[in-house]
Amino acid sequence: MIKKKETSERSFDPNQLSGFDGAHSIQLPVDFIHDLSKASSLQVVLDTIAYWISYVFDADRASITLQDTEDYLKLYSISGNHAIPMDFKIPIGQTFVGRVFAESQLIICDDLSLSDELDCQMLSEHGMGSCMDAPMIHNDICIGTLNVADVRKHHYTLQQAILLQTLAKWLALNIKLHLQVQEMAILASTDELTGTFNRRVFVQESHQTMLHFSKSRVPFSIGILDIDHFKQLNDCYGHTAGDYVLKKMVKKIRSILRDEDFLARIGGEEFAIILPACLGNEAMRIFRRICSTIEAMEVSYEQEILCFTVSIGVAEVGKQDTDAEDVFKRADKALYCAKEAGRNRIHFAN
Ligand code: GH3
Ligand code: MG
Ligand code: MG
Repeated sequence: MIKKKETSERSFDPNQLSGFDGAHSIQLPVDFIHDLSKASSLQVVLDTIAYWISYVFDADRASITLQDTEDYLKLYSISGNHAIPMDFKIPIGQTFVGRVFAESQLIICDDLSLSDELDCQMLSEHGMGSCMDAPMIHNDICIGTLNVADVRKHHYTLQQAILLQTLAKWLALNIKLHLQVQEMAILASTDELTGTFNRRVFVQESHQTMLHFSKSRVPFSIGILDIDHFKQLNDCYGHTAGDYVLKKMVKKIRSILRDEDFLARIGGEEFAIILPACLGNEAMRIFRRICSTIEAMEVSYEQEILCFTVSIGVAEVGKQDTDAEDVFKRADKALYCAKEAGRNRIHFAN
């Protein structure tokens, strides 16, 4: 089959679109720069860019993609025509924009109706005539693409290609910084081994939950869970086996908890669970289920089947509490009682 697209597109290496000894200059709306400098999150940055790129190019459609996985791009922001829905995962290997990304080339498609690529066909079906996509490159790595489309065919000029590529380079740095901040925020709040939140987030979350209780009277329970005789398990089967058990147990607990519940690893083999709007018997029912499900778990590790139990101390917020710490301390004492009473059990703080 003859590839029709070859007759309708122009490709440019980004280096071809720079280094003109000052012969080209660009003009941008002052508000574009102001809005960008005010943007407080990655999504706001991307929405700001999509909005202003569409304005600068008087485009019928502007969008931004960022690499999601090895094989897919994710559409992050669209201004104008929604020919390609936001939740559409863009396969790098089968799309025009994927080719722009993979080859790090700015490509203009002068007639979308002649292309056999998925995204061009979707754009064409929704009335677009031509498009121009630029790779966003930072430190020689392409992180995504900046795209404009117009209802007219053969609409984009070399001058516009220079403008889009220049903006793509400049914006890539801005986006990369926000991506790094986002990554660091995730690292700072996640326990590396189990993927749960860490102690720092638990403290924040328990204060937020307490604040919500003070304002809206939505109560909550806290459970502190500790694996019984975990040192022995490590001593018998090795630390790696212990790590594996921790991961398996977290997965199991997650499958029992509701979406609104909160789980964090607050120490070596110690976890905190917050159950919002859940008190007394209802909370005890959930914690009992966690306790008995863990007791029944059989973790296959190498040639061994590992079994273990947990103890849980539970406390609920009361009128007398001024701080989440008060509830936490009662749950901690209750955990101590559960251990003293023989382990593999729950103790509810009075
Ligand atoms: P108890 O029933 O009283 O809680 O006994 P225990 O052995 O669980 O408690 P202890 O505090 O004596 O020991 C906790 C053990 O947890 C010791 C430590 O090696 C282990 N541990 C802590 N963090 C990790 C971890 O990340 N991985 C592994 N494998 N073990 C860990
Ligand atoms: Mg323990
Ligand atoms: Mg412990």
